[in-house]
Amino acid sequence: MKVVIIGGVAGGATAAARIRRLDEKAEIIILERSGFVSYANCGLPYYIGGLIKDEHELTLQTPETLWSRYRIEVRTLHEAVSIDREKKEVAIKKLETDEEYRESYDKLILAPGAVPIIPDIPGINDSRIYTLRTIEDALHIKNGVDYNDIMSAVVIGGGFIGLEAAENLWSLGIHITLVDAADQVLPQFDRDMAGFVHSHLKENGFDLRLNRTVSGFESVEEGIIVNLDNGDVIETDMVLMAIGITPESGLAKAAGLELGGRGAIKVNRHMQTSDPDIYAVGDAVEIKSFVTGKRTSVPLAGPANKQGRIAADNIAGYDSRYKGASGTSIYDLTAASTGLNEKWAKDLDIPYEKVILSPPSHAAYYPGAHLMTMKVLFNINTWKIIGAQVIGYDGVDKRIDVLAAVMQSGGDIVTLKDIDLAYAPPFSSAKDPINMVGYISENVLTGKVKLFYCEDIAKLKDREDIQRIDVRTEEEHSSGKIEGFDRLIPIDELRDRINELDIEKPVYIVCQSGLRSYIASRILAQEGFDCYSFAGGYRFYECFRKDRFDKEGQLDCGVYI
Ligand code: FAD
Repeated sequence: MKVVIIGGVAGGATAAARIRRLDEKAEIIILERSGFVSYANCGLPYYIGGLIKDEHELTLQTPETLWSRYRIEVRTLHEAVSIDREKKEVAIKKLETDEEYRESYDKLILAPGAVPIIPDIPGINDSRIYTLRTIEDALHIKNGVDYNDIMSAVVIGGGFIGLEAAENLWSLGIHITLVDAADQVLPQFDRDMAGFVHSHLKENGFDLRLNRTVSGFESVEEGIIVNLDNGDVIETDMVLMAIGITPESGLAKAAGLELGGRGAIKVNRHMQTSDPDIYAVGDAVEIKSFVTGKRTSVPLAGPANKQGRIAADNIAGYDSRYKGASGTSIYDLTAASTGLNEKWAKDLDIPYEKVILSPPSHAAYYPGAHLMTMKVLFNINTWKIIGAQVIGYDGVDKRIDVLAAVMQSGGDIVTLKDIDLAYAPPFSSAKDPINMVGYISENVLTGKVKLFYCEDIAKLKDREDIQRIDVRTEEEHSSGKIEGFDRLIPIDELRDRINELDIEKPVYIVCQSGLRSYIASRILAQEGFDCYSFAGGYRFYECFRKDRFDKEGQLDCGVYI
């Protein structure tokens, strides 16, 4: 059997190695347009920042190692230019010589990835405007940074690639202006959670220009001018364009293969396209979200690797199926997410409830603990987790991974309280934040606590038919409070002062993190009060409140993490 693979990185290289492990006799050829194979796209920002020092560390394999270990023939700087499905041949161009030739196949795997979106706006062809996708792009940026006096950069696009690149440029002492058309960075997060990221970026001196689009660029001797839609002009030394990617499906389209939404290649669970002899994997394909059951694109390394393995299994005669993805991702603040956020759940009409908490990353008494903020959404009817967002520093990665694993296995949110997780003070707490999510949700679902949220404050602050109390200390209250929550009854005085409250009126309670307001709720509920605890506490609210634009369109945010 002869297998030709177009694209030799995450999906393509994985598929090639797996086919060899299953079929020692197969002839396997990888065609790769760039000069490198099996490279670590995800490491590219860190190479630019100098954390990864040697460019060779970015290549996990070379054509030589793939040949000596796997007998896989890799042809770099060879671009597949068309597919003749009838003859089962690929037309290929040798990029060094422009010479063209054809290669036959029994099975073809398309793993061409995606390409950065480049808007058609004036001045876009300036050589100081970069994109980041391949090793060549990273070398180009690194060269530009190393050999020019780069003091400032404008990064356009606040997705995870834009942010990672921006943070790495910033680590080199470069001043960063970050422009995004949305009113927040990281669209996979809800706005209230993204506020923590905004505050982190502002703290590091980033100039955040949200709700702004770029209308054009002008080249000047000293650099490049970036014109924004509101008339703002930013003069800078370089620009990184990271406004998104589009599936590289041109070959598939020209070959008449079926495409889905956003032009991604349609595949079945075996990663087979509409032509049974052609498989497709990675960023170029459309897959199923296991949270919503709908078709979507999840352009991440984990899904590409899994899909490559599945395509290989099927080609080698083993029945292997892709179960879908939930888009679990992480950015090194650390901010991580999986599944749906509130905006997406609303768009899909999924009835949900949420819990918000701010637990420490490990035992608070052990040095180095940081608060993390967790928001977990679950379907109110089935109790199944539908999405989660976690922002903080250490320990965020393992919490999101546990949540993603439980979500994928269809576990309900309350089962989180029973998960037996590793504990010692440097790593966690005896009640791990994951267990806490389970406890809180159980309290919510069994009616032991009723929650209210940031978005409710505006409606509650002037109501006379309710009581609003803050149960923090006097010191905490005097250093900042939620609008309408002037009345202070510290939690430790609540039992003695319960007579000050009117049992006929519901009580809305706030504290710093949501824990004391929960305790207060339990005290009052057992005395017959109808009461509500504020999810996330004052710390969460203050970030939400301050993460707003002023009249000049500037973001006002404090430091919360
Ligand atoms: P790719 O890995 O992009 O490989 C496609 C290859 O096909 C390319 O090398 C291209 O040159 C080649 N090709 C295309 N067309 C042709 C043709 N006609 N002929 C020959 N060759 C062709 N994901 C994460 O999960 N976590 C991260 O932290 C993360 N960080 C990232 C950081 C950056 C800067 C980038 C760019 C991506 C990052 N990703 C991350 C995404 C991840 O790298 C991709 O999802 C993954 O590489 C997709 O794999 P793929 O095989 O579909 O495509």
